[in-house]
Amino acid sequence: MNHDPNCIFCKIIAGQIPSRKVYEDDDIFAFHDIHPWAPVHFLMVPKLHLPSMAQLTPEHERLMGRIMVLAPKLALEQGCNPYPEGGFRIVCNTGAEGGQEVHHLHVHVMGGPRPWFKG
Ligand code: 5GP
Ligand code: ZN
Repeated sequence: MNHDPNCIFCKIIAGQIPSRKVYEDDDIFAFHDIHPWAPVHFLMVPKLHLPSMAQLTPEHERLMGRIMVLAPKLALEQGCNPYPEGGFRIVCNTGAEGGQEVHHLHVHVMGGPRPWFKG
């Protein structure tokens, strides 16, 4: 299934729920987290509805690689300070025991000056 009509992130990607967009291309959408843990906190999601990392197969290698290569660029654009004094943290909660609440694969990118609100 490419889209899940009941999925909140599919609705954000489709523009049915408003979000503060960070980036978009044919395969990837990025937007600010509604409850930021850090001065910079955005989410990167594949447009394809994948519930979590647990569903990844080799056909997703390019997609996930693109997210990882794009993350540092977007982090700097959004105000993270440069490596090594600055940097960012990437988190990808997977499943209930991984702390995942929204079941559309998403990569948290968090950064900015310490202290953070959480994490
Ligand atoms: P998880 O715990 O699944 O890794 O994280 C889900 C994240 O999605 C949370 O940090 C939460 O604040 C964020 N979130 C949930 N609903 C919305 C929403 O409607 N809009 C935005 N921008 N973020 C959301
Ligand atoms: Zn979805």
